[in-house]
Amino acid sequence: MGAMSMRFHSEGGAGEVTGSKHVLSIDGARCLIDCGAFQGKRDEAEKKNRDLVPDPESIASVILTHAHFDHCGMLPLLAKRGYRGNIYATPATRDLAGVVMMDSAAIQARDAEYLGKQAAKRGSTFEWKPLYDEEDVIRATGQFVTVSYNRPMPIGDGIKVELYDAGHILGSAMAYTHARDRSGREVTIAFTGDLGRKGKPIIRDPAILPAMDYLVLEATYGDRLHESTEDAMDKLADIVNQAAARGGKVVIPAFAIERTQELVFYFHLLVDQKRIPEIPIWVDSPMAINATSIFQIHPECYDEEIHEAFVRHHENPFGFNSLHFSASVQDSKRLNDYQGPAVIISADGMCEAGRIQHHLIHTISDPSSTILLVGYMAADTLGRRIRDRENEVRIHGEVFKVRARIEEINAFSAHADYRETWDWMSSLDLSRLKRVFLVHGEAAGLEHLEKFLGEKGIKDVRIVKKGERYEL
Ligand SMILES: [Zn+2]
Repeated sequence: MGAMSMRFHSEGGAGEVTGSKHVLSIDGARCLIDCGAFQGKRDEAEKKNRDLVPDPESIASVILTHAHFDHCGMLPLLAKRGYRGNIYATPATRDLAGVVMMDSAAIQARDAEYLGKQAAKRGSTFEWKPLYDEEDVIRATGQFVTVSYNRPMPIGDGIKVELYDAGHILGSAMAYTHARDRSGREVTIAFTGDLGRKGKPIIRDPAILPAMDYLVLEATYGDRLHESTEDAMDKLADIVNQAAARGGKVVIPAFAIERTQELVFYFHLLVDQKRIPEIPIWVDSPMAINATSIFQIHPECYDEEIHEAFVRHHENPFGFNSLHFSASVQDSKRLNDYQGPAVIISADGMCEAGRIQHHLIHTISDPSSTILLVGYMAADTLGRRIRDRENEVRIHGEVFKVRARIEEINAFSAHADYRETWDWMSSLDLSRLKRVFLVHGEAAGLEHLEKFLGEKGIKDVRIVKKGERYEL
């Protein structure tokens, strides 16, 4: 405590793209922005996740920018370790985060059971315990206080937050915070969370923020440029038409939240406009089905296009004649025997687990089938091996020759690239801006964005080091 002070530091998501945890300290009271999970190499991620943040019980408040696991995944552990305060987020983020956190608790419980059995077989003891369970998820979910976009909200002594559209996933927000210390000094700090892109379907574009003193900016694609979002539909139509002509299936590994609903929305438009034939389109992922029903109950997040279709014309953008959802394992298995052209969207997005693996087993050696990759594939994943066109891949311990066509569409990214980041930034009033803090990026992206913003005339750009304290 002691002297009056305003500070910023990161406990995660600094110099890396997972584990987002940023801390604003005002006269010693801490506000945590996001409490995400570290992902990557299992043992390393596990250790970092267990470290969490010091003294969770004395944190004053938490803001959650959006429902991705690397931003919300450790909230149940925070609650388990004694945090009893509020978690501020948009209503859609609260709902989606509930699904994401519960899914993680279920996966951890399954892992613990499996590893326990394996250890028993070897006659050894088993010590690993899940980081949290379903009870912790329920506790954390009960601590949410939802705040709609553009409703300024006091969240503690001397601190106020207003959430703005981030254009990243449903419910995603930038947190514009206003802080005042005991001496009466006032500072505004804006956190982008994950900054989205213009022109994404379903959700609105990133909002124009009011002028700020400090900007905490993500840099996931700080050194890359994407394909335009407008090309996505044309490519999708081409790939489906070619596969239909060959009588083959199109299998699309996709993350259950946002990417799947985007694809469904695009397919709906393509069918309506008769740009693809009415072949069956299956969404085969229980989590994607849950997430889709959450999309349906949050019209307050929609952009004009989907608002027009859904609210004015009472159409359901996430449901149409040729679209089917398969929730049960039996449905999923029946799909494997289906003959003829079809589209199958399934999770996990990087093919590392889940029903997508069964679909790949049935299609990857079939030259009439197409595997369509629409997301980022991390190193050492099955998805990456398919993308790298390896001749054969191992799935469930068995080797399969890769004979299906492998196609890619890179226009679906949910993160702004560096040019889009600047397009957004340069539309803001930067007259008061003192410094940009760069977070949520790997070294190459951070360094490139630092240089790029410098060339655009931003004088003070700082790559945030984990644990380092910055006076505001
Ligand atoms: Zn995200």
